[in-house]
Amino acid sequence: MGDRFDAVVVGAGVIGLTTALRLQQAGARVAVLTAEPPGETTSSVAAAVWYPTRTRFEPRVLDWATRTYDEFARQAVDGVPGVVMRRTRMLLRGESHDVPWWAAAIPRLRTLRGDEVQGPFTGGWAFTVPTVEMAHYLPWLQQTFSTAGGTLIRRRIDALEQAGVWAPAVVNASGLAARALCGDTEVHPARGQLVLVANPGLHTSLRDEDNADGHTYVHPRSTDIVLGGTFEVGEWDTTPSPATAAAILRRCTDLLPELAGAPVLGHQVGLRPWRDGGVRLEADPHPHGRIRRLVHNYGHGGAGVTLAWGCADAATALVAWAVRPG
Ligand SMILES: Cc1cc2nc3c(=O)[nH]c(=O)nc-3n(C[C@H](O)[C@H](O)[C@H](O)COP(=O)(O)OP(=O)(O)OC[C@H]3O[C@@H](n4cnc5c(N)ncnc54)[C@H](O)[C@@H]3O)c2cc1C
Repeated sequence: MGDRFDAVVVGAGVIGLTTALRLQQAGARVAVLTAEPPGETTSSVAAAVWYPTRTRFEPRVLDWATRTYDEFARQAVDGVPGVVMRRTRMLLRGESHDVPWWAAAIPRLRTLRGDEVQGPFTGGWAFTVPTVEMAHYLPWLQQTFSTAGGTLIRRRIDALEQAGVWAPAVVNASGLAARALCGDTEVHPARGQLVLVANPGLHTSLRDEDNADGHTYVHPRSTDIVLGGTFEVGEWDTTPSPATAAAILRRCTDLLPELAGAPVLGHQVGLRPWRDGGVRLEADPHPHGRIRRLVHNYGHGGAGVTLAWGCADAATALVAWAVRPG
């Protein structure tokens, strides 16, 4: 099996699939190994708006976020399924309205005028960012990978070294499972619950992250609206809580009264792969077993979609030796 592929990517979420595509584009023969089909990953639940939620500034993070924004912006122009650019308003409740660090990653961020802000809000920002409908985008990523000759293998492994059977280079894009697969106790679930409602004709995303009752967002999509949310670090329960859903609906309706009475279409819960020290993206100095090159790319927390393409570029550069010439 080992010589059929140059690299195997463990994980078929947004991090694994984007990395697999970049490795292919660099000339490698690639397999993706996954316990679940892409449509059942955490990535499939994401609201999937470009926004570096709870991500600290680091030069490399700004670089990943910038590259990802640029890639999605190109894909939106090209009509890639599920990718659209959406106007967004972030409403602020505090005293500081300083431009955030991530504004450097996007072409324009405008501070809202006094007459654009009411109620409990003291200010805000307007900007346009990619929104990705994962129900369309993950199948497109998978299809693009397969069409270019990639192989998707459905298999759950118990240890990373098992992946070395398929290829000498392994990328660990296993998200939350990295906690068990490489014993990284910095990785925890950050539970997120969403309510999906019918779209009464809204087009602009709204965010109220300073809400003391819980961070609040309204993200219109083509056929529904994603209402959120929660960010519960250490919580593993994937059953939607009716009380949490009611609280999300109440906060979102307070924010945007047009939502009152919108039919509820569904409830979703996902476990974000939170990592205390931020994303782990590095070559492992001690690859095990038959693996000759092991690159970790996990721990993206609430920003996996926002950082995916930039991280895929960086992970591909780290696997570089495995890439076949020509
Ligand atoms: C409610 C919610 C809203 C979100 N909103 C946003 C947002 O607006 N913007 C944003 O950027 N991000 C958002 N996120 C975060 C985003 O979803 C994650 O950061 C991202 O999906 C992580 O992707 P991943 O590929 O690392 O992990 P996953 O999607 O979890 O994929 C992990 C992969 O590893 C595989 N795997 C695991 N264990 C094994 C094993 N033992 N053997 C083989 N394969 C294995 C799995 O089967 C899967 O294929 C949100 C998340 C949630 C839950």
